[in-house]
Amino acid sequence: MASILEQLHSFHIQSAVDELVEQGGNKNVEDHPLDGIYRCKICGWIFNEKEQGKPFTTLSHCPICNVGQQGFDRIN
Ligand SMILES: [Zn+2]
Repeated sequence: MASILEQLHSFHIQSAVDELVEQGGNKNVEDHPLDGIYRCKICGWIFNEKEQGKPFTTLSHCPICNVGQQGFDRIN
């Protein structure tokens, strides 16, 4: 049953990260880690900073529906 412990552990870490972000965390896009995931509210396209290897702020518009950054929600 080690997997349950592992899940609990990773959940705990995620909670701590969420809490940090909720408390204001680091909203400075210049030096934040590339861990953001953003979803287009129009078409549902996902921008994953880690996969893209660049911050969301470098995205000018959704490649699917062409909406600008304001059309995205951060989902993580
Ligand atoms: Zn879109």
